[in-house]
Amino acid sequence: MKRIAIIGGGIAGLSAAYELEQHRESGAEIEYVLYEASSRIGGVLQTERVEGCLIEAGPDSFLSEKPWASDLCRELGIASEIIGSNDDARKTYILVNNRLIPMPDGLMFLVPTQILPTVLSPLFSVSTKFRMAREYFYPPHDVTNPTHGEDETVAALVERHYGKEMVERLADPLLSGVYGGEASQLSVRAVLPRFADMEAKYGSLGRAMLAQKKVTTKNAGTPTRPIFSSLRDGMSRLVEVRVGTGIFVTAPGTHAHGNGADAGPGPFELLDARKLIEGEIAALAAKNGKADDFDALQRSVESMEAHVDDFATRESVDRDFHLRIAQATGNSSLELVVQGLWNQRAELWGRLQQHFHTADLASQTIRDNAAITRAIAARDPAAARAAMHRHITRVAREFQRGVDVVARGGATKAPTSKSKAARPAKPRP
Ligand SMILES: Cc1cc2nc3c(=O)[nH]c(=O)nc-3n(C[C@H](O)[C@H](O)[C@H](O)COP(=O)(O)OP(=O)(O)OC[C@H]3O[C@@H](n4cnc5c(N)ncnc54)[C@H](O)[C@@H]3O)c2cc1C
Repeated sequence: MKRIAIIGGGIAGLSAAYELEQHRESGAEIEYVLYEASSRIGGVLQTERVEGCLIEAGPDSFLSEKPWASDLCRELGIASEIIGSNDDARKTYILVNNRLIPMPDGLMFLVPTQILPTVLSPLFSVSTKFRMAREYFYPPHDVTNPTHGEDETVAALVERHYGKEMVERLADPLLSGVYGGEASQLSVRAVLPRFADMEAKYGSLGRAMLAQKKVTTKNAGTPTRPIFSSLRDGMSRLVEVRVGTGIFVTAPGTHAHGNGADAGPGPFELLDARKLIEGEIAALAAKNGKADDFDALQRSVESMEAHVDDFATRESVDRDFHLRIAQATGNSSLELVVQGLWNQRAELWGRLQQHFHTADLASQTIRDNAAITRAIAARDPAAARAAMHRHITRVAREFQRGVDVVARGGATKAPTSKSKAARPAKPRP
């Protein structure tokens, strides 16, 4: 069995987990865990709605000509949500000395390919325009030179070809919009690998772009695609759609407690805590409980039997049963502890019970509660503790079985678990 750790729940980490899950489902012997430091998944990919407007806090689109993002959308079943950019109406402005200046026509990303609009544009100084003309004669890389082909920053490459002004007025504003970083910090090989290839082949980026344009014009018979694609309800859809398909939080991150809407323990954590605490409470109830307590517990069991088909009532009676055990200890602080545990349970179970609840599980819970009641009424602390442990261990086992079914695609409806860390369907050690 190969064990894999994925660090980070941005689109890269989630895609890695998605790929691994495909392999696992087709029988590969792998086990993976995704670790995310923050309290939400998606990384910089984040869509918000403010007063009815959809706002992208990170990426707002992907390049249509690169197939991978749209392929992923198709696999995830959200291809119908893809929308294209309105390229006729698209105009980009650069703020220079407090003035918004439109980017001249013919600029292909950073490379000018039309002479007149570039010459007339107030975006560049005369000396930069002169360098643009000279760039056309930039020689191809000398392949015998060992330093060629090494990585450099985008700023260094643009400056070599067009000068510093081009970095400040074009590369930096465009790259901060796309990568959220500065040209002097971004690697050419990572963010503009095409530029490195074009330079190696043609030398001049201008000549390379024109050569490419010729090929595109030749194939102009094929319908043109919009340059950018996005998703109707925002780019976050890419990271939302798989929530609940067997991926869930096993351990909260450092921000989990009270810091963000996703805060809360995972189901196995909660069951571990309940086993530890409620086991001891059952033992104490067996020691301190009174006849009234035993009667109340017995009535609870009977009430659960009477409502075996009614999930909501049975849940409420089950909660009262466990609170009554805490009450039987005579320690009101322990009552509050159990109340707290059951409040957490209500929140989690509400989201997840649709997958894990079965009629069999309900009958088994009633039998468990009857066994706990008998042990407490017999004033046998060890037996009461053991009965409570058996009950919670069994719930965890059933829960794990449910997770396995969901992970194999046996469930159709996703629990709305807010994943911060994910793991494949494997029991917790
Ligand atoms: C403002 C902005 C606009 C952009 N616009 C576009 C665009 O329009 N089109 C486009 O294609 N690209 C765009 N990009 C780039 C694109 O969004 C990113 O390249 C891509 O989202 C990066 O994904 P990632 O998973 O590699 O990293 P991230 O999204 O940064 O995710 C990394 C995750 O790892 C977590 N993490 C970090 N350290 C640890 C650790 N030690 N342990 C556990 N977890 C950790 C972080 O919390 C985070 O969730 C834009 C980027 C920004 C910032």
